[in-house]
Amino acid sequence: MVEENDFDVVVVGAGFAGLYALHKFRDDLHMNVRVFETGDGVGGTWFWNRYPGARCDSESYYYCYSFSPELAQEWEWSGRYPEQPEIERYLNHVTDRFDLRRDIQLSTRVTAATFDDATNRWTVRTDRGDAVTARFLVTAVGCLSAPSVPDIPGLDDFAGDVYFTATWPREPVDLTGKRVGLIGTGSSGIQATPPIAAQAAQLTVFQRTPNFSLPARHRAFLSEDQAEIKADYDEIFDLTRQSFAGFPFHPVDRKTMSVPEEEREEILDGLWEEGGFKFLYGGFIDLLRDAEANEIASEYIRTKIRETVKDPETAELLCPKGYPYGAKRPPIDTDYYETFNRDNVSLVDINDDPIEVITPTGLRTTTAEYEFDVLVFATGFDAMTGSLLRMDIRGTDGIPLSEAWSDGPRTYLGLQVAGFPNLFTITGPGSPSVLMNMPVAIEQHVDWIAGCLEYLRDEGWTRIEATEDAQDAWAEHVTELGEASLYVRANSWYVGANIPGKPRVIMPYTGGQPMYRERCDAVRDAGYDGFALGGAAAGG
Ligand SMILES: Cc1cc2nc3c(=O)[nH]c(=O)nc-3n(C[C@H](O)[C@H](O)[C@H](O)COP(=O)(O)OP(=O)(O)OC[C@H]3O[C@@H](n4cnc5c(N)ncnc54)[C@H](O)[C@@H]3O)c2cc1C
Repeated sequence: MVEENDFDVVVVGAGFAGLYALHKFRDDLHMNVRVFETGDGVGGTWFWNRYPGARCDSESYYYCYSFSPELAQEWEWSGRYPEQPEIERYLNHVTDRFDLRRDIQLSTRVTAATFDDATNRWTVRTDRGDAVTARFLVTAVGCLSAPSVPDIPGLDDFAGDVYFTATWPREPVDLTGKRVGLIGTGSSGIQATPPIAAQAAQLTVFQRTPNFSLPARHRAFLSEDQAEIKADYDEIFDLTRQSFAGFPFHPVDRKTMSVPEEEREEILDGLWEEGGFKFLYGGFIDLLRDAEANEIASEYIRTKIRETVKDPETAELLCPKGYPYGAKRPPIDTDYYETFNRDNVSLVDINDDPIEVITPTGLRTTTAEYEFDVLVFATGFDAMTGSLLRMDIRGTDGIPLSEAWSDGPRTYLGLQVAGFPNLFTITGPGSPSVLMNMPVAIEQHVDWIAGCLEYLRDEGWTRIEATEDAQDAWAEHVTELGEASLYVRANSWYVGANIPGKPRVIMPYTGGQPMYRERCDAVRDAGYDGFALGGAAAGG
C-alpha cells in the first residue's frame, strides 16, 4: 500500500516504456510520479519471458535506450542477440543507475482507473487496495504482455507439468529425459524449440501456421566490436530515429523488380548470410507493399527451408504458404529448421489434425494420441489491446474503454483515446509500435508525451483530450494504409486474428516511422492540433 495518494502522473508498467517514462517525467519535468507493476521485478517482457532460448531479435546495441549517451557508453552487450537474463540485468541496471526503484511499486496490478470530469483527475485502483489520484494516467503496459491461454478442453486434467513461455518460472526447469509437447510456432516457440530439443528425450512440436524464420547468426562481441559500436553510437541512434522501422539501416529505395534476377539473388544471399531483420527492411523497399516482390523473398526462404530440412514431408509442412513474408511478426532463429533433422524431434500439423483435448497423459488430436511428461504453450499474446482492456478504464461519463473499443481500438496517433482525457497510451494501437524496433518507438512516445505535459503545465491547462474528429480521421488513415499493405493478408496478431472473437482490425500504424514522427511533430508544433485543451479556469 502506498502512503502518498496523489500524484502528477501514474504510470502503469515497469518495462522499457514505464522505466523511461518515470525517469523523464520525474527527473526532467520534476513531476511527482508513481509506477505500478504487476511483476515482482522490473523489466516487463524481459522479466516475464524466461523460456529456454528467449532472446531479443533486434540487435543488442540498438535494442536499448538512446536517451543517455553515458548509459550507452558504459553498458557492455555480450553479443549480437543477448538472452533474456542479460536484458533483464540491463533494465535493472537502468533502474538503479537512474534511482528509479523508489518510485515503483512492484507486485501491484492496476485493476481500474476512473476519470473525474469535475477535478480532471484519474482515480487509480490496484489489486492491493490502493486508490490513488493523478492528473495524468500513462499506460506503459506493453503490446505483448497479456498472455493468451488457449481454450483447449482438459488442460486442468493433465498430470504432468505445464509451462507457458510468457510466464516461464524463475527456478530452472529441467527437461532432461522428458517427453515434451510444444504447442505454438510463433517467435517464442521458434526460439524455444532448439534448446528444448537439445535437453528433452523427445520433443513434439504442434504447428498450426508455419512461419518464415530467418537465421539470426548470433555471435559474441569482441572488444573491437564494442569499440566500433561506441565510436559510432551517435550515428547509429540517429539512423534508428530516421529509418522506417527503427533499425540503424541506411534507407533503401531499391525495388525488387528493378534489379535483374541474378543480382537480386546475390542481394538476398548476402542478407541471408548476414542474418536478422535486415532481410525484411534492408534489401528492398517493397517487400511489405508489393505482393509479387514479396513472393520472391518468400520463395527464397522456402527454398532455404527445403534445403535445410532433410525429410521432404516435414520440410513442406514447415514452408509457409498462403500469406506474405513479414505480414506476421517475422521470427529469427538459431538452428530452428536444423532441429527438425534430429531423431528426437517431430512435427505435427494441427491445421489438418487439430488438438481436440488435453488428456491426463498428453493430448489427443483428431487422428492420434500423444503421451507427454511436460506441455509447453507458446501461444502468444492478446496483443496491443489485451493489457489495456484487462484494466477497467473508464473515461468521461463512466464509459469503459472496452465499450469505446468494442469494434476494435480507435485512437488519435496511438497516443490518446477520445473520451478519455489525460490518458496517454505508450505504443498504443494506431502507432507504429510493434512494427518497429520498440525502444525507438517507446522513446519517441515518452518524449512526445513529456513535451505535451510540459506545454500543458506552462500554459496552465489541466486537461487534454483527443477530439472525436481527429480520432476518426486518424483511425481512417491507419485503416487505409493498413488495407493497402500486405499486413492484412495474414491471420496475424497484428489484426487480432489469434484471439477468438477479437475484432479484425489492423492495429499498428503501417506507414513507417518517418511519416508518423512527422505527423506527431506537426501536431505538437500546431499547439496540439486535434486535441481539446481545457480545465485552466476550473483549476482542477
Ligand atoms: C519474447 C519477446 C521477445 C521480444 N523481442 C523483441 C525484439 O527483439 N525487438 C523489439 O523491438 N521488440 C521485442 N519484443 C517486444 C517487447 O515487448 C518490446 O520490445 C518491449 O520490451 C516493450 O516494453 P514495454 O515497456 O512497452 O512493455 P513490457 O515490457 O511488456 O512491459 C509492460 C509491463 O506492464 C505490466 N503491466 C501490464 N498491465 C499491468 C497492470 N494492469 N498493472 C500493473 N502492471 C501492468 C506488465 O507486467 C509488464 O511488466 C519482444 C517481445 C517478446 C514477448
